[in-house]
Amino acid sequence: MRKLCVIGDPVEHSLSPLIQNAMIKAAGLDCTYGAQRVAGCDTAAWLLQAREEGYAGFNATMPHKEHLVPLMDELSEDAKLFQSVNTVCIRGNHIYGHSTDGEGFLQALRQAGMELEGKNVLVLGAGGAAKPVMYKLKQAGAVKIVVANRTPERVQALCKQVGEEGMDWCDFSRENLCRSAAQSQLVINCTSLGMTGTEGQFADLSFLQELKGEGGVFDLIYSPAQTKLLQTAQELGHKTANGLGMLIWQGIYSLEQFAQTQLDGAAMEAAARQALEGNV
Ligand code: NAP
Repeated sequence: MRKLCVIGDPVEHSLSPLIQNAMIKAAGLDCTYGAQRVAGCDTAAWLLQAREEGYAGFNATMPHKEHLVPLMDELSEDAKLFQSVNTVCIRGNHIYGHSTDGEGFLQALRQAGMELEGKNVLVLGAGGAAKPVMYKLKQAGAVKIVVANRTPERVQALCKQVGEEGMDWCDFSRENLCRSAAQSQLVINCTSLGMTGTEGQFADLSFLQELKGEGGVFDLIYSPAQTKLLQTAQELGHKTANGLGMLIWQGIYSLEQFAQTQLDGAAMEAAARQALEGNV
């Protein structure tokens, strides 16, 4: 029986054990998956402990994703690019770090029928989740990306890191959001605005009216299932998708790394969605 878990602080809210155990069962894998609260200052100590306790691997959430980068023997291309690790595989003496956030996002976007080739995209937010999203948007053929963020220093730093070609940034003013939306076909929300348990909400969603043709609006938030942003976008006739698909697919890609095999994605997704029913 191989031991797996998710680490984080806090970790109690994590849906990973629910999702992973449902997929492990559906795939017939001989694994257990738990949750470990590990403080931010204890990432390296946890890695030693995980090796001693015979873990085959673990997922990492806040605040460990960046801390793990220098602790890996080998990093995947995406982990190197994002400077972030959410999947650690302990293979004998070799520790491999990967990030499935970007590919999970891309797969969920494709499933929602939001193709990127030749599109201009307005990204809202420049926090931890925005980075893999921006890299993948560029890789998958988005022509122009405008990133809007409340704090200018943060968005400037992120654009510099991702590479400024084809990128622009603006603040959260109504005027700038409307101008950027008018030149875009897709909007991706990477802010926490509208998320259950947070106070923040978009003050003005009129920029959605400016979105070109049948636009697409993808919200990384999955709780609530339909944010005010998505509800308004749907009323305006845009395609919409929430972040549940991204959450599930990053989990499927992680389990494939742990199991070192390709899994039946559709079956894994169905098992995860069934397990999550009533939990998000
Ligand atoms: P983060 O690093 O804390 O970034 C939060 C972002 O939201 C920043 O851009 C921040 O702007 C913005 N923001 C927060 N409050 C705001 C307000 N009142 N007005 C304007 N902007 C505000 O968080 P994160 O890790 O990137 O996560 C962002 C969201 O994505 C969360 O809701 C999270 O649940 C979701 N997420 C979903 C998945 C998935 O699998 N579906 C994966 C990762 C994250 P400033 O820079 O100005 O503070």
